[in-house]
Amino acid sequence: MTIESVLPIPDLFSAKRILCIQPHYDDNDIAAAGILTQLANDGAELFYLTATDDLMGVVDASVSDEEAAGMLKSNQLAAGEIVGVKEQYWCGYPDAGAYDYFDLRRDFLKYIRMIKPDFIFAPDAWLTYEGHRDHIQTGLAAAEAVMFATLTRIASSDPAVDAAFKEDSIKGVALYYTREPNYIADITSTWEEKIAAVRCYDAQFSPAGMEQLVTALDMKSQQVAAGQPFSRGEPLKVLHPSALHGGI
Ligand SMILES: [Zn+2]
Repeated sequence: MTIESVLPIPDLFSAKRILCIQPHYDDNDIAAAGILTQLANDGAELFYLTATDDLMGVVDASVSDEEAAGMLKSNQLAAGEIVGVKEQYWCGYPDAGAYDYFDLRRDFLKYIRMIKPDFIFAPDAWLTYEGHRDHIQTGLAAAEAVMFATLTRIASSDPAVDAAFKEDSIKGVALYYTREPNYIADITSTWEEKIAAVRCYDAQFSPAGMEQLVTALDMKSQQVAAGQPFSRGEPLKVLHPSALHGGI
């Protein structure tokens, strides 16, 4: 018997309901729209949960917060149409601002217990040189919420959801924005959709900034596919939920 046979790397393509937890409106798609589009095409239901209101990223400083929020949501809706997102949810914490980590975790627990996903996507909280606190907090709260989903003595932000929750559904976690991938997703066939989705987020990027992002994603997707039997990839750390604790 091997450790791999006890805690195998979960098969992403067995996913039926995927909850993708992101700090900001565009992170799921920048990091993983290629594989997520494939999974949606394969029949998986995609649910996006955004932790913050993302208002600090809006490049046009002249628009009001209400207008900026509308621009972000319409960007997200357009990208979601391309990727095949079934439902969008928002926590609305202040982007790059002060909010409580445990409130965030309680909200993530609520959505996990409510949606009952079999896979979770989230940023890798342990990414070396991640300077954005929203990314670290979102990644860590997502990982904790996965571990604690069945422990209903740890309350979510909705007692009714906790009372109705019955069984564990999570088979795997895919951490994106990772320096230690154990799986390179072949996104050659969905590269065009990924870039079309990323280009929808024009409230957050100047035209020059968007071209720089697309060029960087283009180079990175080919760099991570070096040595693989395909030309473009997205790096992921795919883990059994039990592998999130204790270093096993
Ligand atoms: Zn972000």
